[in-house]
Amino acid sequence: MSEQPLTIALSKGRILDDTLPLFAEAGIVPAEDIKKSRKLIFDTNHAHIKLVVIRATDVPTYVEYGAADMGVAGKDVLMEYNSNGFYEPLDLNIATCRLMTAALKGAKEPEGRIKVASKFVGLTKRYFAEQGRQADIIKLYGGMELAPIMGLADLIVDIVDTGNTLKANGLEARDLIAPISSRLVVGKAAMKIKHRQIQPIIDKLSEAVERRR
Ligand code: AMP
Repeated sequence: MSEQPLTIALSKGRILDDTLPLFAEAGIVPAEDIKKSRKLIFDTNHAHIKLVVIRATDVPTYVEYGAADMGVAGKDVLMEYNSNGFYEPLDLNIATCRLMTAALKGAKEPEGRIKVASKFVGLTKRYFAEQGRQADIIKLYGGMELAPIMGLADLIVDIVDTGNTLKANGLEARDLIAPISSRLVVGKAAMKIKHRQIQPIIDKLSEAVERRR
């Protein structure tokens, strides 16, 4: 029986650097060097498996709508996307970092309503609602650290890895919202229709993750 074609959406950038070695350990290798190419679609060493390399924030969209059968995305992106349109069968334990609130070093948080800047407006809104804190969420697209310095916001919600970016800008991490790592996501329709192709990939990746522990 011939294999049905299968498309896996990978997040480009920092996550891709960790994803490609893990996929290689699981036996899936692109046919050419992804990082040296401007292409978005790549063949692999498996005739039926293709990789598409797209913005991290677009991965859940491709998988939910079935344009890609499965994907790799950071938990931060999945929390912000906030959909149950796909399964999340495996923590790949790569690109680990923390989603945190941060403020100017030593600054007191205002008692009443606070202003919070983030690119993760959805999850930030939900987080402060769960905390029972009144917050105005301000959407930014980058350089969140600048917001408290310029008086735009009292707090930011951002990804922290080493903490160097916060420190370099006179900020400090405050509360942990969630530990973050990249996850394997599988479309609900794909999981049903292509289970015979997908399950061995989940198993191989899972073994690779376990070997690294
Ligand atoms: P750091 O200075 O090491 O704390 O890195 C913080 C910055 O790097 C953040 O503002 C993020 O934009 C980015 N960053 C670090 N790790 C990750 C990750 N695993 N996924 C996405 N962005 C990250």
